[in-house]
Amino acid sequence: MKLLSKSKYLTGLQCPKLLWIEINDPTRLPVTDPTTQFIFDQGHLVGELARKLFPSGIDIPTDDFFGNIKETKKLLEERETLFEAGILSGQLYSRLDILRPADNDSWHIIEVKSSTSIKDINIHDVAFQRHCCERQGLNISKCYLAYINNKYVRAGEIDPEGLFIVEDITDQVSEVSIDVQDKIEGMLEVISRYSCPEMGIGPHCRDPYECVLAECWGFLPEDNIFNLYRGGKKHFELYDKGITTIKDIPDSYRLNEKQCIQRNCEIDGQPYVNKEAITNFLATLQYPLYYLDFETISPAVPLFDGTCPYQPVPFQFSCHVVKNEKALSEHFSFLVDGPDDPRPAFLSELKKVLGDYESIVVYNQGFEEGILKEVALVFPEYYDWVNRVRSRMVDLLQPFRSFSYYHPQQKGSASIKKVLPALTGKGYENIDISDGVLASIAFYNITYGEATEEERSKVRGELEKYCTLDTEGMIWIMDKLRELCD
Ligand code: SF4
Repeated sequence: MKLLSKSKYLTGLQCPKLLWIEINDPTRLPVTDPTTQFIFDQGHLVGELARKLFPSGIDIPTDDFFGNIKETKKLLEERETLFEAGILSGQLYSRLDILRPADNDSWHIIEVKSSTSIKDINIHDVAFQRHCCERQGLNISKCYLAYINNKYVRAGEIDPEGLFIVEDITDQVSEVSIDVQDKIEGMLEVISRYSCPEMGIGPHCRDPYECVLAECWGFLPEDNIFNLYRGGKKHFELYDKGITTIKDIPDSYRLNEKQCIQRNCEIDGQPYVNKEAITNFLATLQYPLYYLDFETISPAVPLFDGTCPYQPVPFQFSCHVVKNEKALSEHFSFLVDGPDDPRPAFLSELKKVLGDYESIVVYNQGFEEGILKEVALVFPEYYDWVNRVRSRMVDLLQPFRSFSYYHPQQKGSASIKKVLPALTGKGYENIDISDGVLASIAFYNITYGEATEEERSKVRGELEKYCTLDTEGMIWIMDKLRELCD
């Protein structure tokens, strides 16, 4: 029997084709990537903490599918607070985070989320759970969502009452429940089909989740209109007009200045260079140049006192110092070792490296500046120094975000991951850790998860390589910008 679980129901709301594939042909789906796995792991951690809100609750094991359902039935009669209660009703199946007995033989559903706000999809999630419960004869009098309070500041042990906001969503759930049965019937019909339903790409591919199935997009040419810089609604507006490549966007179509530069570059196959703007940017630099990059972790559950959920905490920096235009660079780096709060050692080492004068070159200044502003609030002895450092910062993103330089290979992005290969031919493809999110996950896993010494040492080496490349790459980019203006 093909079951429609709550996660499949949510998939079905997004796309019938994806639902059909998940149930009938899951080998077409990619394996779970490290980022998605990390989100799942953080979700589990959050779920564990939410249970502490109800200390008398009973955790029903989930390793045996039918055993879990049987145990749930038994414990429902005893009217206990249940974690992971499994409800099977015909082809419908739900496993509930928390189910609590309430007045008049009724029950409350409490769904736990690691997000910091309530999303529409959460309401549909609970509506499906309530529907399953009611079909099995349970009276659900209230529905709640327990989600992360991003204002919570850790002080000692995690306080679940502070970490979670528990909000009554009963009315919202009732609103979307009106046609839940119709939707379910439609989905059961879809999953019973022998062949996959046809479904074209559309805004639904990214809402509420970025779909993992790349095959639907494979027909698009390389310079497709979905790479149009900050295209937003224009992407599907153009697609619906039958336009798939940027160079085919007609002159009459309203594009902003940057989008026009992008289209012209696609037509010419050449980069766009505004020498005057780049020269003006370069004139703001004062040697020695300190090329600087941070790596951070942003766990859902704060690890250190004085931090909030999802607050980025720096654990690594790389700094290349170039004394003058002709000098070779000197490299300095820091990567914290061990699970303690990395910020004191990070700040102390950074202060030693950055000196007191001249330009600090970063890529996307808001990030590094924001990190330093936040740490200065917790470590006020660094407050004045942080302000001086911030005033020395120059953002190498600026010439690219302003389209003073644009290369067709950037594909509408000013990220260093696109700019570096487009401008210099060098890139991140030969290293295991190739972006900041992967760096963050790798550090978290070797530091707060289970890892052998060998794994730790390998990952630390990869982290060093990655962060070093970020600052070295900035030097290469700067050299190219200078060449362009010579
Ligand atoms: S990419 Fe879009 S059309 Fe294809 S399965 Fe995913 S959501 Fe459906």
